[in-house]
Formats: sequence, C-alpha cells, structure tokens
Amino acid sequence: MILPPATLGMLGGGQLGRFFVAAAHEMGYKVWVLDPDPHSPAGLIADRHLQAGYSDYAVLDAMADGCAAVTTEFENVPADTLDYLAKFVPVRPGAAAVAVCQNRIAEKSFLRDNTLPHGPFAVITADADIAAADVSLFPAILKVARFGYDGKGQARVTSAAEALHAFHQFKGEPCVLEAMLPLDAEVSVVLARDESGAITAFPVVENQHTGGILDVSIAPARVAPELAAEARRCAGVIAEQLGFIGTLAVEFFVTGGKLVINEMAPRPHNSGHHTIDACVTSQYEQQVRALCGLPLGEARQHSASVMVNLLGELWFEGGEPHGRYREPDWSLLHAVSGLRLHLYGKHHARHGRKMGHFTVIGDDMADVLAKALAARQAIG
Ligand code: ADP
Ligand code: MG
Repeated sequence: MILPPATLGMLGGGQLGRFFVAAAHEMGYKVWVLDPDPHSPAGLIADRHLQAGYSDYAVLDAMADGCAAVTTEFENVPADTLDYLAKFVPVRPGAAAVAVCQNRIAEKSFLRDNTLPHGPFAVITADADIAAADVSLFPAILKVARFGYDGKGQARVTSAAEALHAFHQFKGEPCVLEAMLPLDAEVSVVLARDESGAITAFPVVENQHTGGILDVSIAPARVAPELAAEARRCAGVIAEQLGFIGTLAVEFFVTGGKLVINEMAPRPHNSGHHTIDACVTSQYEQQVRALCGLPLGEARQHSASVMVNLLGELWFEGGEPHGRYREPDWSLLHAVSGLRLHLYGKHHARHGRKMGHFTVIGDDMADVLAKALAARQAIG
C-alpha cells in the first residue's frame, strides 16, 4: 500500500486531474501533475506542475523518481509514455488498457472480440473502405479513430459520397463509420477496479447531450432495474477483460430498449462528477485508492443528483460568440439550496469549453431535476 505523505503522479492537467489532486490532498498525499499548459486546472493546485510534453523523457525520469505511482486523466497520453514510466514506477491503468480506449478502431474490435454489445460499424482507413461499407450503415457518423472528444472529429453523413468528403476533410485519418442509432436514452457506468480484481460500480447515470457535448447527468438513471444491472455487468466485463486498475467509465446507448456500448474512458468521467457530492466515495477518491492499493471505498449514492455542465458560452453575454465577455453571476447559483458549484479555474472561456459544473442533490428526483433545470435557466 502506498500511504501518505507519498507523492502521486498525474498525467494530464484538466478538470478530471484537478479533482484527483483535490481528492488526493484530502487524503494526505502530494501530487505532481504533468501538463504542457501553464494554466492547466490541475497544475494550478498541484504540489508541483511539470510543465512539459508527454514525451519529454527527462521530465518522465523526474516524475518516476519523485512519485510513488502514476495515473492519468487523459486517454490520449501516448502509450509509450505509460510503458516507459512503468519500468520505474507502478502505472495504473496500464498502457495496454489505455491503448484500447484511446483508439476507436481498437475499442470497437475489443468489443467485437469479447462479444460485448456494440452498434454496426466499419473501419475506414482508405477511400475503398467507404465504397465497400454496407449501405445499411447510413445515415451514419464518421469518427476519427484518435483524439476526438466532445463530438469533435465527427461528421454526420447520409451517403457514401458524404462519408468520402468527410474522410478527406479529416485528411484521411483512420476512422470508424458508425450507423446512426435512434436513441431512447444514453447512460453510463463509472466503476473502480483494484489490483486484486475487486470491482465497485456506481449506480447507472442517465446522460443528456447537446451538440455532442454532455449537458445534464441524472443519477440514478431513470431506467428499468434490469437494464441498469445489465449495464453494470457489461462495464464489469470490460474492466476485467482490459485488466483495468483504476476508475473506468463506459458510455452506453439505449436503442430499441436494448443496451449498446458507445465508448470507454480509462479515467474518471464527466458523468461521474456527481459522485463528489452524492456518493459516499467519489470517482476521484476511488482512482486514488486503486492507484495506491487501498481497499476501494463504498460507492453508495446517498442522494438523488442532477449535474449540469457549465460551458464557455456562459461567459459571453447572451451566449453569443461576439457577446461581451464577463463573469456569470454565481450568486444566482449559490442561492439554490442543495446546489454545489464547481469551477475549474480555467484561464479563458471559449464556446463549448467545459468551465465548471454544478450538482443539485436531494431526496426526491423530481424536485432535484426541477431545481437543477431552474438554476440552469437562471444562470444561462
Ligand atoms: P465523444 O468522444 O465526443 O464523447 P461519442 O462517440 O461519445 O464521442 O459521441 C458524442 C455523442 O454523439 C454521443 O454521446 C451521442 O449523443 C452522439 N452519437 C455518437 N455516436 C452515435 C451513434 N452511432 N448514433 C447516435 N448518436 C451518436
Ligand atoms: Mg462520448
């Protein structure tokens, strides 16, 4: 077991890393964050911010020297970086598991090979693959295999001709072409798995997206108990098959009453932010625990919760791209009982950029949801 006052290493300095730093600090650990961005939200509150690229081996050496174990908040950390660090220090999750989650082609192949439910898709690495793709895939979404997030690197296409055009716009980057599924709902499961293979899953969360970006997460999800149990079971199988150690998130579509796995994230997830305020142990504390070889904490959710993301447009008057830049009036949110505001300390707001979130908790889901939506309306 790695115990305080040990120093932990975090690759990536975004909000997920920032919440990890906060959880680790609360538990008595120190944290070093590696992120090239001088204003990275996690770097700002870390004990040490290593401001360098993920392939700067001199800095990786320093991290391996100074940290008792290393984790990540960012699935696009090069697998080579994780492999290199793993020669000197425990790295959780490991490079192999992260490599599957950071490439949509590897991810889809993993689901297919493990007979886990996934939607129809084709791998596109050349024009000819589009010509050969089954027409039943259309209407479809073309997604770049790597580095997409918040709906970026995706194009909705209705025909092979449109898919070809989009593929060229993505400069021929390897892609997957997915059938566009009619969605009844979207849900996710966040779980933690420790080195002994024990798994603790949080209750299933219901997610509403706007323009490809998560907007609202409702927990527990308002879905049939059998469907929720099946989602947790699938997520557990994924964690086991990946040999995953840490906090893992699995996104699902509900289509025609059935579950289809959309994608995995080898780290805490936006749809698990509410665990800070509504669960006995947060997804970030679980990441610390799994990393350090502590027993996992209790994942029980003690309150109904609704989480609302706060995007950069809020900083622009009227939400307009050319609106006057100003700080939103946070007093409107602080006036709401049961609401907790989390701001990430990002340097500058941009449209679509995740700047913060709030979670409303309470005993009754209908009340909590009404309060959260009213608060969003008031601040927006
Ligand atoms: P990201 O990495 O940006 O989260 P996703 O693949 O999860 O990418 O896509 C973002 C959102 O776009 C999904 O949560 C869903 O709302 C919508 N979407 C993506 N793929 C499909 C699909 N095959 N059918 C229907 N909707 C989809
Ligand atoms: Mg997603």
